[in-house]
Amino acid sequence: MTAGCDRPVIIEKQKEFEKMIKVVKFGGSSLASAEQFAKVGKIIHADKERRYVVPSAPGKRNSKDTKVTDMLYACYDLVEKDEDFRVMLMKIKDRYDTIINGLNLKLSLEEEFKKISENFKNKAGVDYAASRGEYLNGIIMANYLGYEFVDAAEVIFFDEDGNFMPEKTDKVLSERLAKTERAVIPGFYGAKEDGTIKTFSRGGSDITGSIVSRAVRATCYENWTDVSGFLIADPRIIDNPKPIKTITYRELRELSYMGAGVLHEDAVFPVRKAGIPINIRNTNAPEDEGTWIVESTCHQSKYTITGIAGKKGFVSVNIDKDMMNSEIGFGRKVLSAFEDNGISFEHMPSGIDTMTIFVHQPEFEGKEQAVISAIHRYAQPDSIELESDLALIAVVGRGMKSTRGTAGRIFSALAHANINVKMIDQGSSELNIIIGVSNADFENAIKAIYDIFVITQL
Ligand code: ASP
Repeated sequence: MTAGCDRPVIIEKQKEFEKMIKVVKFGGSSLASAEQFAKVGKIIHADKERRYVVPSAPGKRNSKDTKVTDMLYACYDLVEKDEDFRVMLMKIKDRYDTIINGLNLKLSLEEEFKKISENFKNKAGVDYAASRGEYLNGIIMANYLGYEFVDAAEVIFFDEDGNFMPEKTDKVLSERLAKTERAVIPGFYGAKEDGTIKTFSRGGSDITGSIVSRAVRATCYENWTDVSGFLIADPRIIDNPKPIKTITYRELRELSYMGAGVLHEDAVFPVRKAGIPINIRNTNAPEDEGTWIVESTCHQSKYTITGIAGKKGFVSVNIDKDMMNSEIGFGRKVLSAFEDNGISFEHMPSGIDTMTIFVHQPEFEGKEQAVISAIHRYAQPDSIELESDLALIAVVGRGMKSTRGTAGRIFSALAHANINVKMIDQGSSELNIIIGVSNADFENAIKAIYDIFVITQL
């Protein structure tokens, strides 16, 4: 064939290469067994745009099972105590061999496990140990799919102090993946410049997926897990809560901070910078649309609110002082008392002569007397009172900005449910309303709010 004849083919190929790129991350439960791997393989092959795959380590196969990452931590614990770790390591190998055999792969991890055992003996570090979960699963996944394996240690970087290096990573990773049409990049870890393995915090494969999405300028980052996206409220409190179809990064941040799990808190940052949407999907129900996490949207939620989340275990520090509002610097003096004791505060509603600081109970308990005396020294209040066992509930929704009466509806719902509201705080962005109630009222308060916005809306 002449070069001229090749041209259209090359252009065609190039066009296809430049088309949509999806990065797909699969969580531990999606990769816990050969059956789950097979589902994942089907999902990937169903869409040729799914070109870069980020796997977690094998998770639990049932509620009594142990995640491979936890097994690795336990195994390395033995290493550190100079106890025999070989039986434990063989159990881990067994988990992988069961997957390999179940998929009929011609792959042996014998050599890899020899190397791991050697490195354990040489005390390669706990992060190295934990990272092997994703590393080995990545090797299996690449073999199963026929994709190239790219070790995260060569493309994801941390500095000497263990801080993630976004720019260096983006440069090296994007150059590396530009040469590879389809690849598997294990989640959760990278390496320091001296080659030492470093992991992100638990659940960190979500972050890797986001970093890879940014590096390849993906059209979409699909995060496959075992639920069909975010739900409006916690299913342990509300029966069958409605799913959230679309949520903005900012709303998600508010809800994740208040305890709505599914995605690692830090996973939004790399894609947010690049304007790439995240789609949370369910490996066990791939037909479900899941939740879209986007920068901005004109899609309004049917219910005014997007979601409700909350946490128990707060203390309110109520400070009284006559004419407080006219005393310049009063707030700063009070906050210095918390700062000096290394305590961060959650919320700070205030009145004319009163100011309340919400703090985490476990963090505050050991230091309460030191904080109280510091407030007295710095700000000379008339009185300080503490109230413990409080819960904070965040009602989040971009729709609240354009809807009248949201706070009123929350109040009346709580009043009807006989719940005493201790605090209400609306952020100036009108994206969320935070409500303080006692721990004992937490579940009922969430039910009442869900009822008024979602059930009675139907
Ligand atoms: N395997 C790691 C963990 O269990 C990371 C992850 O799954 O994202 O935390």
